[in-house]
Amino acid sequence: MTTTDVPAPRSRSRITSGGVDVHALQDALDEAVDGEIRFDDGSRATYSTDASNYRQVPIAVVVPHTIDAGVEAIRVCHDQNVPVLSRGGGTSLAGQCCNAAVVIDWTKYCNALVSVDPDARTAVVEPGIVLDTLNTLVAEHGLMYGPKPATHSHCTLGGMMGNNSCGSSAQAFGKTVDNVRRLEIVTYDGERMWVGPTTDEEYERILALGGRRAELYRGMRTIIGTYADEIREKYPKIPRRVSGYNLDSLLPENGFNVAAALIGSESTLVTIVRAEIDLVPVPATRTFVVLGFPTIADAGDAATAVAAHNPLTIEGLDENLIHDERKKRKNTSALHLLPDGDGWLVIEVPGKDKQESDARTDALVKDLEQRQIKPNAKVFDDPSHQQEITEVREAGLGATAWVPGQPDTWEGWEDAAVPPEKMGEYLRDFHALLLEYGYKNVTLYGHFGQGCVHTRIPFPLTTEAGVAEYRSFIERAARLVTSYGGSLSGEHGDGQSRGALLPIMFGDSVVHAFEEFKAVFDPANRMNPGKVVQPYRPTENLRLGPGYAPKVSVKLQFSYPEDEGRFDRAALRCVGVGNCRSHSGGVMCPSYRATGEEEHSTRGRSRLLFEMLEGQYRESPITKGWRSPEVKDALDLCLSCKGCKSDCPVDVDMATYKAEFLSHHYAGRIRPASHYTMGWLPRWARLVHRAPGLVNRLAHTRPLARLGKRLGGIEPDRPIPWFASERFVDWFAARHETAAAPLGDIMLWPDSFTNNFHPAVARAAVEVLENAGYRVVVPQAALCCGLTWISTGQLKSAKRILKHTAQELAPLLRDGIRMVSLEPSCTAVFRSDAPDLLPDDENIALLRDQTRTLAEVLEETDGWIPPRIEKKAVVQPHCHQHAVLGFDADRKIMERVGITATTLDGCCGLAGNFGFEAGHLDVSVACAEQELLPGVRKAADDDVVLADGFSCRTQLEHTGNGRQAMHLAELLAAGLRHEDLADRPERVILKRPGNPERIPARILSRAKNALPSPRP
Ligand SMILES: Cc1cc2nc3c(=O)[nH]c(=O)nc-3n(C[C@H](O)[C@H](O)[C@H](O)COP(=O)(O)OP(=O)(O)OC[C@H]3O[C@@H](n4cnc5c(N)ncnc54)[C@H](O)[C@@H]3O)c2cc1C
Ligand code: SF4
Ligand code: SF4
Repeated sequence: MTTTDVPAPRSRSRITSGGVDVHALQDALDEAVDGEIRFDDGSRATYSTDASNYRQVPIAVVVPHTIDAGVEAIRVCHDQNVPVLSRGGGTSLAGQCCNAAVVIDWTKYCNALVSVDPDARTAVVEPGIVLDTLNTLVAEHGLMYGPKPATHSHCTLGGMMGNNSCGSSAQAFGKTVDNVRRLEIVTYDGERMWVGPTTDEEYERILALGGRRAELYRGMRTIIGTYADEIREKYPKIPRRVSGYNLDSLLPENGFNVAAALIGSESTLVTIVRAEIDLVPVPATRTFVVLGFPTIADAGDAATAVAAHNPLTIEGLDENLIHDERKKRKNTSALHLLPDGDGWLVIEVPGKDKQESDARTDALVKDLEQRQIKPNAKVFDDPSHQQEITEVREAGLGATAWVPGQPDTWEGWEDAAVPPEKMGEYLRDFHALLLEYGYKNVTLYGHFGQGCVHTRIPFPLTTEAGVAEYRSFIERAARLVTSYGGSLSGEHGDGQSRGALLPIMFGDSVVHAFEEFKAVFDPANRMNPGKVVQPYRPTENLRLGPGYAPKVSVKLQFSYPEDEGRFDRAALRCVGVGNCRSHSGGVMCPSYRATGEEEHSTRGRSRLLFEMLEGQYRESPITKGWRSPEVKDALDLCLSCKGCKSDCPVDVDMATYKAEFLSHHYAGRIRPASHYTMGWLPRWARLVHRAPGLVNRLAHTRPLARLGKRLGGIEPDRPIPWFASERFVDWFAARHETAAAPLGDIMLWPDSFTNNFHPAVARAAVEVLENAGYRVVVPQAALCCGLTWISTGQLKSAKRILKHTAQELAPLLRDGIRMVSLEPSCTAVFRSDAPDLLPDDENIALLRDQTRTLAEVLEETDGWIPPRIEKKAVVQPHCHQHAVLGFDADRKIMERVGITATTLDGCCGLAGNFGFEAGHLDVSVACAEQELLPGVRKAADDDVVLADGFSCRTQLEHTGNGRQAMHLAELLAAGLRHEDLADRPERVILKRPGNPERIPARILSRAKNALPSPRP
């Protein structure tokens, strides 16, 4: 994958680290490795944890350009005796993906689908390929990879092999270990080879050749010779035994399968550099049936009977999960679809066609009834309902972490598995154990057809006593699971959470065999040390731990109502799920999608903010608090699109945190020039209106414009928007006063962008609102929502501006008048940022409650007859609309007027000041190439292109194929006027100042080619 160039972080200091000659290591890696070698504090802090309770700051991060470069990095580490850890999506839940080691991140470049053999149903992949990407690429052959973790949009095949991942589809297709043919591996000491099942002849041939390979194979044979009987006896014969090394795969009856034995070894034995994997046919169709039971244990009791019908998945969920999702307003429409009950099984039944999958579903339900298991059953054939129900289950972890008003929950006992036929019984005992420790309302869900139960538990991990309680609980739970013949981990692996508990499950002797296995491959204990075998204690390296006491030394500007007013809680929110590393769908996170860099994902930024607070009271690479250049670097490419606010399962709101950070970072200091130019745009626009023609001429006269942009911190290749010759407010003031209207007055908010640059949008809105029966009033005073001050972190000014605006508007608002705001980013300020900044201001509360989008007002207007506009449209919702306002009203209005809309995901990439700021152009354009530009290119000439955001319209004009976008108001007004909207409707409708301008083609093509690929 190629990626967009990003500005070099400004702080790249070197470190010293216990026992490691960091300087020598850095020089050697720089010299030998074709890739990005990072010893800087920001990178190390970014990779300091995974999705677990643990935190270990790495020595360095290596992002190899090629597989060979990655192998070379391992050689250098070996020569310098430095530990190594491979990393994929970093979604591990047991601490196996963080360590004080050199972390090799395979995801950015080593992510190719090397080959596919559709006849043999196999493929060869590099470790960094994302599962969804792989599945998209092999879909043309009607194939897919069988195992599918809930993290499929961003977990990698390397990570799946490292963890022996499974997921819901393992019911039909097994775990990763069941779907790998051969692995190409490299050992710490540099032996690189393909491994797989080994016949006796092959074994003899390897031995005859001698060398390190022969030593490895002989060592493995010796272990099997010594421990075969105990392995046969102690390994549970259940579908979800994930704990421990797969020594059973080396047994003669299992073909001495070295590849299978190394699957699930969590980077502690070898590094996987390529794999030959099995593919399976994509099921032609599937029917969903959801069964409701009185309790989750009853659902567990029924799982085996359901499994007899060979469905694709059998997923359990309990009432607590549904309660948490309801409380967090996640998947709300799907929650209504569930049948009555307090515990559910969601079952996917495949078929060669709908008739077959329906018939099999019918037989399944009848069979349960005959067995006197009488759940409430609901069948779903509609794919959109099926997708919604899948999301209810897949949201499990994110939905149960950070539920407002409930204690925080943690991994630690997340994924144990028992024999499926004992599921119900185990759930009852486990529930009793939870209650014994006082853990109430704990959510239970998981892969019930295979006996695997997920949960997050409110372990009190910040006190000595709490940590001791955690240790005691997991040991009791381990004994309970073992008494059922189960596995401590049924899915996520052992890492640090369970490594120390393995003797309970396997006995000392088998654990000794694990240690010998480790010693065969990694005698120096340099591969991910302290995980799985000879492990750290589960209570070491905790991210929180008894000393956890983050320091927030400043007076916060935002109120953080859902985090008890605490920034440290906001910075701790990210649970590491990694959805912000997905490549498609929703808005989050455009900067990661452009750069492929962990540091530019929402998660990376969250980690840095966490480390920033850590550095104030205990060891962390980030030591300068709010003045930290590393945090500023990571936040610099955050577009403040708010995508994470809605798309992150725990509502991380990075745009707010960025504004807060910038506010303290620059407190009492000179800011970047762009903060004074674009950050103060509404103020400058007020001056410009005296001579817009002159300003336009100067801003578009080349040498002058370039100088002005340079001084103003503006990207030299970004055109400056044209100021309108007549502002909207001037046009409105010059109108004859209109008479009172049947539906009374409505206020129209003259935001700076609409007012100064696209006043035709507001004029169109007046036309539409008057047609709907309102008299439009416009505030007389020059007011502002403070958006540009907020996005540049000038929060004290923003508060002042907002307070004044709310005060001025209060008399009208108190009369109950609603305010229509046409620019989504300003509307989002009134709805969300303003009350978060000024939570106690009553005028702000009125503003929040009475601000509407145009579509919302029209939807609320009884009796309005919309015009008929039978057209197709490509619609780009503004990212703040997606995150804060919602798009339902717009969708409904478009339906009513006869628009068939293709709604685009993603952020346009301009995002207010972001795309104008010097140094952001490539990333800005790369973001536009994610969804907006491909979507508009597909539009037919007579389709409408709609975008309510000024940024989105401007970005399309600067980067697109010549199409221009209109605001919904302009389309509706044109419909009311019965305009002919045939070819390129914008030609008829749009009245924009100046001539459309584009960014130079060479820059556009550079950005286009710099997109991460392949993309799903
Ligand atoms: C919300 C959530 C839901 C989840 N749901 C599921 C689920 O349904 N099913 C499931 O099985 N898991 C699940 N997981 C766990 C995790 O997502 C999976 O195990 C996933 O496959 C890990 O992939 P990754 O790319 O993130 O791996 P990482 O976390 O990056 O790595 C996983 C392990 O593999 C090692 N590794 C990575 N690359 C290599 C390599 N090239 N060579 C050798 N070792 C390597 C790492 O060191 C680490 O030990 C879930 C996690 C979360 C946070
Ligand atoms: S920021 Fe949100 S989506 Fe990203 S890893 Fe953290 S919790 Fe997951
Ligand atoms: S605000 Fe947008 S760019 Fe910034 S972290 Fe969130 S999703 Fe990413």
